[in-house]
Amino acid sequence: MIQRYPTKKIYVGSVAVGGDAPISVQSMTYTRTADVAATVEQINRLHFAGCDIVRVAVPDEEDALALAAIKAQISLPLIADIHFNHKLALIAAQSVDCIRINPGNIGSKEKMREVVRACAERNIPIRIGVNAGSLEKQFEERYGQTPEGMVASAEYNIKYLEDLGFTDIKVSLKASDVARTVEAYRLLRPKNHYPFHLGVTEAGTVFHATIKSAIALGTLLLEGIGDTLRVSITGELEEEIRVGRAILKDSGVAKEGLNIISCPTCGRIEADLVSAVAQVEARTRHIKKPLDVSVMGCVVNAIGEAKHADVAIAYGKGSGLIMVKGEVVARLDENQLVDRFVAEVEKMAQSEE
Ligand code: SF4
Repeated sequence: MIQRYPTKKIYVGSVAVGGDAPISVQSMTYTRTADVAATVEQINRLHFAGCDIVRVAVPDEEDALALAAIKAQISLPLIADIHFNHKLALIAAQSVDCIRINPGNIGSKEKMREVVRACAERNIPIRIGVNAGSLEKQFEERYGQTPEGMVASAEYNIKYLEDLGFTDIKVSLKASDVARTVEAYRLLRPKNHYPFHLGVTEAGTVFHATIKSAIALGTLLLEGIGDTLRVSITGELEEEIRVGRAILKDSGVAKEGLNIISCPTCGRIEADLVSAVAQVEARTRHIKKPLDVSVMGCVVNAIGEAKHADVAIAYGKGSGLIMVKGEVVARLDENQLVDRFVAEVEKMAQSEE
């Protein structure tokens, strides 16, 4: 049983982060934010893919001024990602649901005080986003780009906000490799109660980003660390959401949709299991109810797995069994099995139990 670290609950728009709130999945658009139509189009794609919170980069004033128009056309909570320039934060704070900014980069306490006041007036939180590759000079010189340096930077920025009386904070500590990422979050976790945004930054293409994120985020989630996450992928937007949701589901942190148990196949196989599982996955993707299902290539392990599954197929030679809650409900030709299986899953998904 995973014991989640008790953190403060904050709100990014309508989405709670921390405390007992479900762990949310975030992503980021890659349009020029000032291009409102293109940015809204990407946000809607992310929404449709299952994203909970979206972030946009705000490198200049034109981007900051576009935020109100973007916000008016979307229903996902919106975060503005800002570096160095407090004026952009002041504009953004009028319309977004959270600001990602590192107070230590703003230049003066007075400027940051204005930003904090603007956020407090609208009740929006601030994410302190520490990246190993861009630590403040004093921490880079003292610690290098190490977990200790990342934690020192986070603590410095947290204190900066606390000293200004602001505590609606979440924190991220991202490095581009698994070891430093995990270590940094582990080191900081016992030192405060703010919610953590998890992520491995610049994680690479879909294949490697998936593996790095699954190891790092999976490890932390199993230790009860993490309240929201982003999987960072050099690839399409939907992939980030698909992988993020899969990490939550496959680590056992979130119960959502089908948990598909399927065998790797071997010389005993007498059916086209690969295509059957692909069909099952595609045809049940819309189902949100958590169900355990198994699709197995022969009787050797199929019956044992089916006993614990809500719905199962056990393939044999040219035919197979459909089992529901461990009981055989049909013996059908091979080409009828997937249709019947999907029908049983749909029925169970709609049932009240
Ligand atoms: S279930 Fe049957 S086909 Fe699948 S891996 Fe096991 S022995 Fe092989």
